[in-house]
Amino acid sequence: MHIYVGESGSWWDSMADDSLDMISSEVISCLKCRLCETRRNAVPGEGSLSAKVMFVGEAPGEQEDNQGRPFVGAAGKLLTELLQSIGLRREEVFITNTVKCRPPNNRPPRKDELAACRDYLDRQLKLMRPRAICPMGNSAIRALLNPTESVSELHGVPFEKDNITYFPMYHPAAALYTFALRKVMEEDFGKLRGVLDSLD
Ligand code: URA
Ligand code: SF4
Repeated sequence: MHIYVGESGSWWDSMADDSLDMISSEVISCLKCRLCETRRNAVPGEGSLSAKVMFVGEAPGEQEDNQGRPFVGAAGKLLTELLQSIGLRREEVFITNTVKCRPPNNRPPRKDELAACRDYLDRQLKLMRPRAICPMGNSAIRALLNPTESVSELHGVPFEKDNITYFPMYHPAAALYTFALRKVMEEDFGKLRGVLDSLD
């Protein structure tokens, strides 16, 4: 039986079938795909259960693998700054990835790895029920939405699917390689602020 636990974390959480902590502890010891063989630390994701918006990246990188936390390297620093620029702290959103373990040499996650890991993201989504989801970069956009267009066409434009507002973004790592994208990302975050305010 599933017990609805409401928006805020409370003692009811421990009565529910599932919790973010339960998901995290399963992820940390998960052996469902080959990425478990090369990871140092799995990276379940972090943030607030009552977050209005979830950010989804591709996969943990080296720093994330070392620390077991998402977006703590150079791309993470930029993400944190972009969040701050629209008045959001990391603790009040939720940040995770399409796969929870680092692929060797940061290669893109493979289809079977994405499929094996998908249930964790789906459970996080089901528990959090965020109003908005920002897939960052082509890999996350493809995994979540399977569109025919790429990030260059989809970024910064919100659309509704299954009662959730999707707001595709460039991956912050892209803005580290291509400086012009930094301004685009700043503008997109400005638009995201408006989108989130409109969901109040
Ligand atoms: N890039 C990602 O896609 N995810 C992280 O957690 C860090 C870098
Ligand atoms: Fe498990 Fe996902 Fe890590 Fe694969 S990537 S071992 S499915 S947690």
